[in-house]
Formats: sequence, structure tokens, C-alpha cells
Amino acid sequence: MPQYPTALQNPVFRTISKATKNLNLESYVIGGYVRDFLLKRGDAKDIDIVAVGSGIDLAEEVSKLLPGNPKVSVFKTYGTAMLKSGGIELEFVGARKESYSEESRNPAVENGTLEDDQNRRDFTINALALSLGDENFGELLDPFNGIDDLEKKIIRTPLDPDITYSDDPLRMLRAIRFATQLDFIIEKDSLEAITRNSERIKIISKERIVDELNKILLSKVPSKGFALLHKTGLLPFILPELVALQGIDEKEGQTHKDNFWHTLEVVDNISKATDDLWLRWAALLHDIGKAPTKRFDKKLGWTFHAHEFVGAKMVYKLFKRLKMPLNEKMKFVQKMVLMSSRPIVLASEVTDSAVRRLIFDAGENVEDLMTLCEADITTKNPKKFKKYHANFQLVRDKIVEVEERDQVRNFQPPVTGEEIMETFNLKPSREIGIIKDAIKEAILEGEIPNEYEAAKEFMLKKGAEIGLKAVIK
Ligand code: ATP
Repeated sequence: MPQYPTALQNPVFRTISKATKNLNLESYVIGGYVRDFLLKRGDAKDIDIVAVGSGIDLAEEVSKLLPGNPKVSVFKTYGTAMLKSGGIELEFVGARKESYSEESRNPAVENGTLEDDQNRRDFTINALALSLGDENFGELLDPFNGIDDLEKKIIRTPLDPDITYSDDPLRMLRAIRFATQLDFIIEKDSLEAITRNSERIKIISKERIVDELNKILLSKVPSKGFALLHKTGLLPFILPELVALQGIDEKEGQTHKDNFWHTLEVVDNISKATDDLWLRWAALLHDIGKAPTKRFDKKLGWTFHAHEFVGAKMVYKLFKRLKMPLNEKMKFVQKMVLMSSRPIVLASEVTDSAVRRLIFDAGENVEDLMTLCEADITTKNPKKFKKYHANFQLVRDKIVEVEERDQVRNFQPPVTGEEIMETFNLKPSREIGIIKDAIKEAILEGEIPNEYEAAKEFMLKKGAEIGLKAVIK
């Protein structure tokens, strides 16, 4: 069997080895750490240790041998223990054998051998184990030839895939997530088994599903994952709003683009420009309002009237259904969806006032909005592609120019409501709002600069217009 002692250079592995010997056990590093070492993905910060015996006892013994005796957190129900040492999280578990029932992904568990434990792992590439024994330190134990699958870039289950996926349907999403993250191919039998078992995803908690979706979205080419979710029939159970975008309708010889595949292109495009998870979510959802708003008009052809507004509302429902945070992240995604067409309209004619309005409405998210709109350019016509990008560059330049001059990004009215009240001797009333709005509009339209003196003069003029008398000048 091949040896990989270089994977175990961190001194903590020798400490675990010593503790294992003290307790007269066997122990192994298993799973992601070994996989990522072999893939040269950099040192993982989470290390899973499996003990043939009690994982909790081993963790306690390791803690005794480590400087400062780090605290051991014990999870009795799961028979696992965790400790942190030098920025690394070590998770200990006893080797176990699992058997599943129909309704739940929580199996009945009994103690087992290393081989039993490897059998319960999701994929051959996640079942690789390195021995921490004294005599065979660093020896690879690979009963399913995972190393071959690593080289061939294949996701394969150790056991019958139908059983593996039906036992724990989360594994279907994990398969797709790993295929996307690592740029691997899901082996044919596995892919067919996922397709057959797709409906079982219903028993998985929303939080777990979203965890996997986020990992897919944060991959280099997220479309790969969404295309697989689509192909296997998982997507309708998770994001039916996206499935509804698929397809091209034709009426009177007029067609529209397939907004599902377009969306996936937009997500890939934006992923080249940003690692921000929520901006990537915005790209994924930016067109969801198009399915319910799609109409055919004899004069206009296909229209998606107010799809941004409808889409923004759908974002809330979708986040709620998936138990995602209903906080400022959700609001950010809503805002991006709502404003997603604004810069496009602008790009045909870049006026100062339109740009000022854009900055005013988008506020601190104006750059994110531009990034989204640029990612939205998926035309295959090279001339148009160049032209649209050049137009957006003009908008970006104009944003900088207008921003420098007018500073409307975090707009604060140059004249306060209090000053308006004092000037015209008013109690809180409708007139104050009217004057404040008029000042804001005048600034955005470029009638007056965003400055105190000009705004004050405008206030006096506007007040007189609506019949108010100034008591202070
Ligand atoms: P990552 O850190 O990128 O998620 P990982 O492989 O370390 O990758 P974990 O979720 O931390 O992923 O799981 C650790 C190991 O536990 C896996 O490598 C795999 O062997 C096993 N495992 C995790 N989840 C499952 C599951 N649902 N079914 C079977 N084995 C699993």
C-alpha cells in the first residue's frame, strides 16, 4: 500500500498517533483532509479522525498530550468529540456501521471496523484513510480505489448508488456540489440513481440544502452544478422558480431567449467578477419574475412587464421557503433584482441626471449593480457584446464623475426638515415633505447643486410658490 507521510507533517498527527498507542487503539485521518491533500487543494483546517474504539476517549487522551490541554467538546448523541489546536479543528469519531430506515437520514449506529466506517462514506474519494498507527504511519487505506477516481476526476459511491442516495438523500446534493467544486464528473450509475431518487430530497432540511447551494454558487463555474440539478430532476424540488424560466415560446414567428440557460450564463459571468455570495444569488434570481409576467403582445412581441418588481417580491418568498436569512442580505438581493434593468436603460443615453438618480437609488450598492448588469450581457454577437460593454464603461465613468461633483450616494438633504419648519414657522406637516422632496428632485435633475446655499434659496422659492411666508431669511 502507498505511503503518504508528507500528508502528516503537522506535529499534531504524531501526538494523535501517540495517544492512539497509549489507548491501544487504531486511528486514521479520513475524508476531506486526505482527499484535498492528494488533490493539492491546500491544507484543510478541518481534520476528521476515526478511531477503531471510542473517538471521545481518543480526543481526551490527545488533549492531555497537547500543550495547554485544549478543551474537548463532546457530542454524546453522535459519539463524537472536537478540539482545536493551532488553528486546526480536529473531529474525532469512533468507527461505525450504519443502517438506515425509510423516513429519516439518521441511521441506527453500532460500533464497527475501519472498513465498516469507510463503507458508510458518501464517495470513494471521501473514504480515503491514512493510518496514524506507530508502525504504518501514513499508509493509505483505500478499499474502493478512490485514488483512481481522484485521478480520473470521478464521483462514485462505495456501495450501490441507489442505496447510498436513498439512505441519505443529502448525498445527491453533495455529489453535485463536489462535481462542481472539484470539476469532477458524476459516474453514470450514480447520475441515474440520483435521477431515480430525486424526490427523496424532500426529507432533507432546508438549511442543509441551502448549505450545498451556497457551496455550488461559490464554485468557480456554478452553472455546472445548476445544470446537474436540472438534469437530475432535483431543481423542481429546490428552486422551481428557476425551472419555470426554462424553454422558448414562439408566437407569430417571434421567440424569446431561454431565460434559464441565460441565467446560468449570467451566474458564471458574475463569478468571474466577484466572490460575494449574495451578489451571486442576485445573479441567479435576477430574472425569476419573468416567468409569471411573460405575455405576448401583437405589437410589442414578448414582454415581461414589471418583472423586476415581481421578481423582488418572489425573492422574499423564496428566501422564506428555504429558511434563508430574511435580513439585510435578502434585502440586498431584492434591491439588485428590482434595479437589475436600470443601468441597461441608461446605457443607451447616459445623462447626468439619470446617473445621479441611479446613484441615489442604488446608494452604496451601485458598483454591485453595475457588476450584475455587465454579467447580464450574454449576447453571442461580438459587435453587440463590445458595444454593450463599452456603454457600461461610459456609465461607470459617468458615475465617478457625477459622484465627485454631486456626492448623492449617501444623500443627506442639505436643508433639514427642522430648518424648513423654523423658516416658515410650521408645525410638522405635509408642506415640509413637499419642500424636502422638491429640493431632492431639483438636485437629482441638476437644477441646483447639492449645496446648502443653493438648497436654501430653492427652499424659499418653493415655499413662496405654495403660499408659505418665511419668518426667517
Ligand atoms: P468539505 O469540507 O469541502 O465540505 P469534507 O469532505 O470534509 O468536504 P464534510 O462534510 O466535512 O466534508 O465531511 C467529512 C467527511 O465525512 C466526508 O469526507 C465524508 O467521508 C463523510 N461524510 C460527510 N457527510 C456525509 C454523508 N452525508 N454521507 C456519508 N458520508 C459523509
